[in-house]
Amino acid sequence: MRFPEYIAKQLLAQQGITIPRSRVYSQEMDLHEMWSDLTKDGTQPGIIVKAQVLTGGRGKAGGVKLVRNESDLKATCDTILAMTIKKEKVMGLLFEELLQIDREIYISIALDRKQHKPIIMLSCDGGMDIETVASNTPERIMKMPLTEASCLRNWQLRELIAFAQIPQECKDSFANVCRKLALLFHAKNCSLVEINPLVITKQGQIIAADAKLVTDDNATSGKDIAAEFAYMSPEEDPMDKEAAQAKLNFVRLDGTIGCMVNGAGLAMATMDALLMSGASPVNFLDIGGGAKVEQVSAALDIISRTPGVKSVFINIFGGIVRCDMVAQGLLDALKLHPEWSLPIVVRLAGTNETEARKLLAQHPKFNLAASMSDGAKKAVELSKA
Ligand code: GDP
Ligand code: MN
Repeated sequence: MRFPEYIAKQLLAQQGITIPRSRVYSQEMDLHEMWSDLTKDGTQPGIIVKAQVLTGGRGKAGGVKLVRNESDLKATCDTILAMTIKKEKVMGLLFEELLQIDREIYISIALDRKQHKPIIMLSCDGGMDIETVASNTPERIMKMPLTEASCLRNWQLRELIAFAQIPQECKDSFANVCRKLALLFHAKNCSLVEINPLVITKQGQIIAADAKLVTDDNATSGKDIAAEFAYMSPEEDPMDKEAAQAKLNFVRLDGTIGCMVNGAGLAMATMDALLMSGASPVNFLDIGGGAKVEQVSAALDIISRTPGVKSVFINIFGGIVRCDMVAQGLLDALKLHPEWSLPIVVRLAGTNETEARKLLAQHPKFNLAASMSDGAKKAVELSKA
């Protein structure tokens, strides 16, 4: 899960890394009070207004603006809030005190899949697009593998300090940033933490001026962070969430046929069968082994609301699950949702198949299929009718 800068920075701060004084924009906030607070000890007045998006390259796209006069603030906020950066709508704003930047350093920790280890990356070309540095001047990036627990040894810290030519008076605080970044990476099960730029100010402070954090999708840390900051990811499809709550494996696609299948392999095969019959699925859905009425009902409910759906193909193989139980689940679900108007094709094969067919034959809503390919064909025909 990817997190926007304002959350990544709070996590850095919790770990003990210095971040600029900042405020998150809200509609109700007093902009004047915010301005006074963030400019109170600056030698030259001004603040930085930063678009909150998940994509990189935001500064280049105009999403990071220096505002010198308070009278320009409102207009800048409105402009940035209305922006779309690389197809991403700006989700909010972060206001920050102006830093007096002496140097900009790039530092990150990412999972290196080849080495099966986290690696720390460091470059003196901070603030720039690191991919460009990597391809044009790779020697300007230092990469160092970490131990599994993301520990940095003292010799490693010394090498990092030497490579970045950190001035004597900043060495301790720089080493601290490295150590704490590694701790954060480990504690939150990250696949990436990045500070670009890590700024050395004219006053000799080390401050994280920008931050990025991505957690591993297989870890629960992403959910915990989202809950802590009441964050709703724009990447998360609300239907995915609903499906996850109903314990369904649901993936939205862009076709026309709703699919309800037990078992991921059969679900893939069903999608192929539909494609061969001339239409594509509107979703991938594995209802799993249980297929109880609640699940069947929730699954059909989600499918029926998926944009673009024209017909539904239910393809069940009764191995452990009994076909008659699924059939009963379908009948009960239909009782709960008399509003469902989509044509439904059902193919049931395996344990108690005959009983299941008998049950469903009573109901005109269900079009029974003789086989998987027959069912796919019927569902496609009905979707075009
Ligand atoms: P990005 O373009 O999305 O990576 O946004 P950054 O927060 O990294 O800002 C882009 C650049 O703005 C930095 O690399 C700095 O060179 C420049 N900048 C100048 N003054 C400031 C300041 O006070 N704060 C921050 N954050 N950036 C500044
Ligand atoms: Mn940046």
